[in-house]
Amino acid sequence: MIPAPGGELLRAPLFHTPRNPFREDKALESYTDGGLLIRAGRVAGCGDYASLREAHPDAAEVDLRGGFILPGFVDTHIHFPQLRVLGGLGLSLLDWLEHSALPEEARMADPLHACRVARGFVRALAAHGTTTALVFGAHFAPATAALFEAGEAAGLRIVAGQVLSDRLLLPDLHQTPDRAYRECSSLIQSFHRRGQSLYAVTPRFAFSASEAMLEVCQTLLREHEGLLFQTHLNEDLQEMAEVARLFPWAADYLAVYERFGLSRSGAVMAHNVHATDFELDRLAAGGAAVAHCPCSNAALGSGLFPLRRHINAGVRCALGTDVGGGTGFGLLKEGLQAYMLQRIAPDGMLLDAGHLLYLATLAGAEALGLSGETGDFGPGKSADFVYLRPPEDSPLAAVLEREQSPERILAAIFTLAGAESVREVRVGGAVVYRSAAAEEQ
Ligand SMILES: [Zn+2]
Repeated sequence: MIPAPGGELLRAPLFHTPRNPFREDKALESYTDGGLLIRAGRVAGCGDYASLREAHPDAAEVDLRGGFILPGFVDTHIHFPQLRVLGGLGLSLLDWLEHSALPEEARMADPLHACRVARGFVRALAAHGTTTALVFGAHFAPATAALFEAGEAAGLRIVAGQVLSDRLLLPDLHQTPDRAYRECSSLIQSFHRRGQSLYAVTPRFAFSASEAMLEVCQTLLREHEGLLFQTHLNEDLQEMAEVARLFPWAADYLAVYERFGLSRSGAVMAHNVHATDFELDRLAAGGAAVAHCPCSNAALGSGLFPLRRHINAGVRCALGTDVGGGTGFGLLKEGLQAYMLQRIAPDGMLLDAGHLLYLATLAGAEALGLSGETGDFGPGKSADFVYLRPPEDSPLAAVLEREQSPERILAAIFTLAGAESVREVRVGGAVVYRSAAAEEQ
């Protein structure tokens, strides 16, 4: 198809959060008869359909009424080698790693296996409306390369890195710090800023990374511009006790990363369920963000995330699915789970649909330093969006038939929409996923 010179004008109800609802009122913007104008893969306009139509008579119209347009979702914490261990319920973090996750991750030594899993992984991201993801790669460089290749082939925005560990896991998963440095340097050469890919330095967690390995991370971040950083922090009480034992000089868990300059802007710390106020203040001052993974926190029994304390301290928070400690792909269910756990947490926050959309989109883009590029429909941003249209006889379709208020419609979408409602997903205006139902049309 030859693109129309005036671009494409999509017509459907539309939601986005161009502002932070934890800091500003009216952060959720919605248009009941909305329009999204796309030119050359970029957002050229977003608002009421009628005004956009009038202002841009030469744009080709795509009528998507009957469904809803949301910005593409941003998953800020997910493990590619854990796709096949989803659903392992009944264990806490360290036992789950030993018995479930790590033996599966060791299989990533086989590049053919890694390629197969990588293709399924990026397909699942797209099929759930995730257009940008910060991903823990594998402990093996070729498998991590396979993830980047699969992400690029699928057209997704993948930020990832080889997972680094030199102790206390399965020996197959360990690298020496020297080898980690060499392999990461080469992956960074190959994939950082190639297309939409970015590289994130990724020590698994302080538990499995010696001081020498954390020093390698610091060196890599110094040697290359624009790298991101990701790891785990304060997830589980048993894990935290081990980290305290392994780093007796550290005042707390965060201090281990701080010693090596790793807590900084562009760093995403997963979980942080059991943070002290002192740590929260330092995270906020340093500019690191926290990936909140409510399904994982509940499934592994890690604890209730203190969202209010993070927000009050000024720490950036976004959502992550934490596949496979979590319960699957998709930021809608993660938003719902965040809402539910806040309902029952001591001092929990009452989240509305605008908070959930922000946490699933722009907050993630901000955590990754990509808010100039994606996360909402601001002018000039990449046209990354998900088109949701519930199956005709589904409960969600029934609710939406009677519901008029945009906030309640969005709340119903977070409550009831799963992958079956994802019709089409685009990154930079290019289709990265279309459901079978969309293909039939
Ligand atoms: Zn994780």
